[in-house]
Amino acid sequence: MNVSEGATQSAKVSLELSDGLRLQIESEGAAAYPNECCGMLFGRDVKDGSLTRRLVDRLVAGSNTFEAGEQYHRFSIDPLQQLKAERAAEKEGLVLLGYYHSHPDHPARPSEYDREHAWPFYSYVIVAISKGKPVDMTSWVLDDASRQFQSQAIQTF
Ligand SMILES: [Zn+2]
Repeated sequence: MNVSEGATQSAKVSLELSDGLRLQIESEGAAAYPNECCGMLFGRDVKDGSLTRRLVDRLVAGSNTFEAGEQYHRFSIDPLQQLKAERAAEKEGLVLLGYYHSHPDHPARPSEYDREHAWPFYSYVIVAISKGKPVDMTSWVLDDASRQFQSQAIQTF
C-alpha cells in the first residue's frame, strides 16, 4: 500500500487505478493534445476496516462541450451524456466517482476554473501533457469547508 501517512492536507481516501486505466487517461490526453480531453470515473467506494478504498472500474470519455477555441484550457462534460453514463453504470452497481481531464503544456495542478467548478466528494484526476506526451498524473478532492483542493494519492496496480 502506498498511502501517504500523516499528510493532513491530503484526502484520506486514495484512488485506485489499474495500469490499463491510467494508460487510457494518458493516451486520451495525448490524443486530444493540444486540446483538453475529459471523462468520467466510475467504480465503487469500498470500506476496508477504517479505510475507504476508491476503486475505479471504468472510464467513460466525455465530449468537451466547449467550442474548439476554448478547449485548450477548460472542459465541461455534456450533462445528457453524463446522465446516460450514470444510468448505465448504476445497473452494474457502479457510481460516478469523479472526473479526469488533461492539462496541455501545464502542470497537473487544478486551475482556478477547476476549483470553482468542482463539487465535494468527487475525485478530479489531472494528467499533464507536455508537447503531446503524458508527464504527470495527480488527483484532487475538494474540501467542503475550505473550498480548497486536497491532493489525493493515486495507487496503480
Ligand atoms: Zn484543469
